[in-house]
Amino acid sequence: MSRTSRTTLRRSRTALIAAGALVAAAAGSAAAAAPFGASAAAAAGCTVDYKIQNQWNGGLTAAVSVTNTGDAISGWQLEWSFGGTEQVGQGWNATVTQSGKAVTAKNLSYNGSLASGASASFGFNATGNGNSAVPATFKLNGVTCNGDSTGPTDPPDPTDPPAGSRVNNPYEGAEVYVNPEWSAKAAAEPGGSRIAQQPTGVWLDRIAAIEGANGGMGLRDHLDEALTQKGTGELVVQLVIYNLPGRDCSALASNGELGPTEIGRYKTEYIDPIAAILGDSKYAGLRIVTTVEIDSLPNLVTNTGSRPTATPACDVMKANGNYVKGVGYALSKLGDAPNVYNYIDAGHHGWIGWDDNFGPSADTFHAAATAEGATVNDVHGFITNTANYGALTEDHFSIDDSVNGTSVRQSKWVDWNRYTDEQSFAQAFRDKLVSVGFNSDIGMLIDTSRNGWGGTQRPAGPGATTSVDTYVDGGRYDRRIHLGNWCNQSGAGLGERPQAAPAAGIDAYVWMKPPGESDGSSKAIPNDEGKGFDRMCDPTYTGNARNGNNLSGALPDAPVSGHWFSAQFQELMKNAHPAL
Ligand code: BGC
Repeated sequence: MSRTSRTTLRRSRTALIAAGALVAAAAGSAAAAAPFGASAAAAAGCTVDYKIQNQWNGGLTAAVSVTNTGDAISGWQLEWSFGGTEQVGQGWNATVTQSGKAVTAKNLSYNGSLASGASASFGFNATGNGNSAVPATFKLNGVTCNGDSTGPTDPPDPTDPPAGSRVNNPYEGAEVYVNPEWSAKAAAEPGGSRIAQQPTGVWLDRIAAIEGANGGMGLRDHLDEALTQKGTGELVVQLVIYNLPGRDCSALASNGELGPTEIGRYKTEYIDPIAAILGDSKYAGLRIVTTVEIDSLPNLVTNTGSRPTATPACDVMKANGNYVKGVGYALSKLGDAPNVYNYIDAGHHGWIGWDDNFGPSADTFHAAATAEGATVNDVHGFITNTANYGALTEDHFSIDDSVNGTSVRQSKWVDWNRYTDEQSFAQAFRDKLVSVGFNSDIGMLIDTSRNGWGGTQRPAGPGATTSVDTYVDGGRYDRRIHLGNWCNQSGAGLGERPQAAPAAGIDAYVWMKPPGESDGSSKAIPNDEGKGFDRMCDPTYTGNARNGNNLSGALPDAPVSGHWFSAQFQELMKNAHPAL
C-alpha cells in the first residue's frame, strides 16, 4: 500500500471511531406517514447501527443495520440526510436512492418483513470527500428512530451467555469481522459489492504484518476496528497464524521469510508479539479465532520419507521438528488469552482423506498440541479446506456407491480415498481427533471461500453408469483435473456464505482465504516476501507425483500469492454456488 493510502487509512479510522455508536435521536411522532407495513396506530420504534466501514478521499463504504423495536412490519424504508457532498452509488440488500442530501433505503423483496426486535442489514458505496460522518437522525417508515421501543421489546434470552464469556462455539450469536482492506478491494471490482461485506480471514503472513506490512493495517489496527464493528454485540475476529520456519515445504508459492532452523525468531519475533497484543485487556471482549499454520503438519505425514510425494524440504522439517515445536508454541502462547479460540489447520479431504494419512495426521496434530507447553485444552477445534477447492458436499455420488459391482473408491477421481467431500471428511476427522485425545467438544471450521463450483458447468444429476469413472466424473461438482491441484483453479466459484453452526460438529463455514487473493504466480516474479514460483500455478505445467502428473488447472497471469487477482475474483463470482 502506498504512503498516500496510509494517510487515508488513518483518517478513515477516526471516522470509524465516530461511526460505531448506536444512533439514538429524539423521539418522533408515531403518527407520521408509514408507507409500508406499520399502520399509523401501531407502536413504532427503531434503532440504527450505521458504520462507515471504509473511507478515503473520494468515497466511502457504509454498513447499516436497522432494528425494528416496534410492532412487526412487512416493508421498510429508512431515511437520513448526508451532511456533506456524499452521493450514493451502489447499494446492496436494499435499494438506496438519493435526492439532494436526502437518502432513502428501501427493503428488497426478501428482507421486507421485520418482526418486532428483528433487524435488516444493508450497505452502500458513495462518493465523498473523505469526511463523511454518521447521520444524526434516521426515520424508519417515517418515524424517527429513538433508540427506545414504544412497542413490545424482546426479553433477553436466558440461554444467552453473559457478554464476553468463553463459549463452546464462538460463531454462535456473533457477527464476524469484515476486513476493511479486503472489503475495499472487493467493492472496487465490478459486481464486487455483492460480497464486499462478507467476513474473511486476516492473514498474519510475516513478522511485518503484526505492525502492518507495506503501510497496511497491523494487528492492533484490525482489533481496534473490530471493537468498532462489535458495538454492543459479540464479534469474532478471524486471524491466520502463518509464518512457520521453512513454511510450505511441499510447494514454493507460499515459502515464507523464516528459514527451516529459525524457530527462535518464530517464537520471539512472531508469536510472542502477537500473543502480547491478543492478551491486551482492551480486546478481551472480542472472540478471537486463530487458525494455526496452514498446510504444515500434514506435510510431515504425506510428503516425507519413502513416500513418492516426499520433498527434501519436508524431510528437513520433519527431522528438525520445527513445525511441531512451532505449532505447539503458538497454541500454548496464543491460548493463554481466555478469549482466544485456537483452531489447528487440518488439511482437506483430498489430502488426508486416505487411510494412510488420516490416523497418522491426527497423531501428528496431537503431538504438536502437546509440545512446547501446549495441551489439548489449548485447542478449540480444527479447520479444513483452507485456501483449497474441495466441494462441501457431493450430492450425486457417495463413497458407498458402486457401478456394475465396482466401488466408486476405484474411480480415477476418488482413487481409494475414504471421502468424497469436505463436510463428510471434517465430521469423520473430528471423531478421529477426539479418539486420539482431543476434547470431545472440539468443533470444525470449513473454508468455503472457493469451493462452490457453480455456474453453467455444474452437473444437475449423476453421471452415466457406464463405468465408475463416467459416473463420478459426470456427477461431481468439483471440476478440477485432479484432486491434488491447488493453485488458482480454473472454473472454481465462491462457496457457501459464511455462517455459524451449519451442520453437526461444524462450528462454522468461513471464508478464511480471502477470495481474489492469488495462490501463487503463474510465472517467476521477483518479490521481497520469500515467495517462490511453483509450477503448480503455471497452466502449462504437466504436474508431479502430488497431482498424479496432470495439468495444473491454474488460471494464467496470476500475481504472487496473497496479491490481488482480479480475473480470479471475477471467475469466483461468476461460478458462485449458491449463486450471487
Ligand atoms: C499467501 C499469503 C496470503 C494468503 C491469503 C497465501 O497463499 O502466501 O501471503 O496472505 O495466501 O491470501
